[in-house]
Amino acid sequence: MTRIYPPSVVAKFGGTSVADFDAMNRSASIVLADHDVRLVVLSASAGVTNLLVELSEGLETHQQLDKLETLRAIQYNIISRLKQPSVISTEIDNLLNNIRHLAQTATISPSDALSDELVSHGELMSSLLFTEVLRERHAEAGWFDARSVMRTNSNFGCAEPELSTLHHQVETHLLPRLEQAIMVTQGFIGRDAAGHTTTLGRGGSDYTATLLGEALHAARVDIWTDVAGIYTTDPRIAPRAKRIDHISFSEASNMAAYGAKVLHPATLLPAMRKSIPVFVGSSKDIAAGGTLVHNTTDNPPRYRALAVRRKQTLLRLHSLDTQPSCSFLAQVFTILSHHAVTVDLVTTSENCIALALDATHATSGEDHVLTTALFTALSSHCRVEVETGLALVTLVGNQLTQATGVCKDVFAWLEEHTVRMICHGASNDNLCILLPADAADSAVKTLHYRLFE
Ligand code: ASP
Ligand code: MG
Repeated sequence: MTRIYPPSVVAKFGGTSVADFDAMNRSASIVLADHDVRLVVLSASAGVTNLLVELSEGLETHQQLDKLETLRAIQYNIISRLKQPSVISTEIDNLLNNIRHLAQTATISPSDALSDELVSHGELMSSLLFTEVLRERHAEAGWFDARSVMRTNSNFGCAEPELSTLHHQVETHLLPRLEQAIMVTQGFIGRDAAGHTTTLGRGGSDYTATLLGEALHAARVDIWTDVAGIYTTDPRIAPRAKRIDHISFSEASNMAAYGAKVLHPATLLPAMRKSIPVFVGSSKDIAAGGTLVHNTTDNPPRYRALAVRRKQTLLRLHSLDTQPSCSFLAQVFTILSHHAVTVDLVTTSENCIALALDATHATSGEDHVLTTALFTALSSHCRVEVETGLALVTLVGNQLTQATGVCKDVFAWLEEHTVRMICHGASNDNLCILLPADAADSAVKTLHYRLFE
């Protein structure tokens, strides 16, 4: 069985934790301070993935040159602070050259596969530079290409890992190297069976960290970011939001699924499968502590946190039959599944279905999810009403469906708002409220004040 001995820690650093030389140096101190850290998983330096995504969309020459120059400056700001820049500069130059070629190709014939190849360079560069930062601090550190273990399907832009291959590859290729040195690898990127580079979706480095942690039976996965843990809500909306020191897997994954930005939504699944605790902290302020996500059993609170998901679209589908029909729901969901649309909020009446579509992960606008093809397919079965500009506010808690007074209180506190849709009952642990987007912050402030302050 794959297992690192002694039980070890996987440490993941997000974009701001590897943004520049000073950030990398601070993150290196975190790695070196804990002898249990054997595997380091990195995001691209802050801003780099966005630049690469723009290049992959095909830009005009002068814009392309601008972006390439910005990318080069980010890398060279780090390289120039190394004691021996020449050790690594040739490799970074090669990657910058690849980026230039791929960006040129993208203007002629863009494709999802090409995008993933291009975008993967952000993590390739940050991991090479970080390995060098560790070495200059006299650590035994090695660079590891995550693609040699992270086998995925070919769903470019949002690839799914293939767990059995991943576990086998980790055992064969990664585990032996961890016994010799601290390994530095890339989050977010993988490779399909045909050898093409893939990516796991924006923010996917967290997911890589727990997937590798699971494959290695790690004792803990540390996610270092720019906030000191998980809060009762986004402190930018409610400044008196409180840090949660201990939180259960299900509470935290509910929060991630419903829009809390700290963790990529899939991150906790691998950790949950193996009960691996996940720590979330700030690499800028280790002393501030953080949140431990684990199998907590003691007294789960009724109300835990508030999450917000913006860019929601409400579809109301009115059946063309005047009589309620037993096949209407089936027809609608078959169409949605053909268009690969996941729906997590639905309400129905006798001949109307209302559902909310989530466009938070779309790279372009809200119409990305409701495509013309989907609209046309739905229209052949029903009259489609579309309302955009909505946000979903979710109250995450425990056993909410077993308590009395939850809805009474929440609706009384939100009495001034136009509630467009409510989902309560399917999950024991959340209550979802769809509102006009411009009301979301004020709804969160009010609920936070009432529930947590
Ligand atoms: N660099 C990728 C992104 O910006 C993945 C990550 O940071 O987790 O989305
Ligand atoms: Mg992130």
